[in-house]
Amino acid sequence: MFAIPESGPAILVLPDEAATIALARRLAAGLRQGDVIALSGPLGAGKTAFARAFIRSFIGETEEVPSPTFGLVQTYDTDRGTLWHFDLYRISDAQETRELGFDEALAGLAVLIEWPERLGTDLPAGRVDIRFSQGNTPDARVVRLSASGGNSLLSRAGLGVYF
Ligand code: ADP
Ligand code: MG
Repeated sequence: MFAIPESGPAILVLPDEAATIALARRLAAGLRQGDVIALSGPLGAGKTAFARAFIRSFIGETEEVPSPTFGLVQTYDTDRGTLWHFDLYRISDAQETRELGFDEALAGLAVLIEWPERLGTDLPAGRVDIRFSQGNTPDARVVRLSASGGNSLLSRAGLGVYF
């Protein structure tokens, strides 16, 4: 065996929301049990739009996927296990997150986390980071994709990023 060297983050331009949805579906197709996806970027950047499309790949395109901003977490049962969608915007410390069942979440199918920086050092090391920022038109977004801790979701999804 040989080690695949880290090739660094991938930067993608998503010209419109359809492109964000397509990216989410592509990652969903490569999902493996235990994957953690941290979605960062400012309010309105597209984190929930991404998570919604990702979750709908498993539960159906017409299912409702609300933002968990107020409830902090939403769960979705799928035939492969439970999908957990956190929005930690209102969390003040990592202890509060543990009380939400974060350990249990890691044993489910996968975890999507908006505002992952709220977790500090409790953020799992093995994960994919997707950072959204505004592009140069109103509907364009730029995403920076990177993997850490040996997570291979990006390469499973054929996005050409290895770690
Ligand atoms: P966040 O969860 O990051 O606060 P949301 O996903 O709730 O953001 O909101 C993103 C908003 O931007 C939605 O109203 C969505 O329709 C819109 N939007 C426009 N272009 C895009 C894009 N390329 N990707 C994602 N959302 C987009
Ligand atoms: Mg959101």
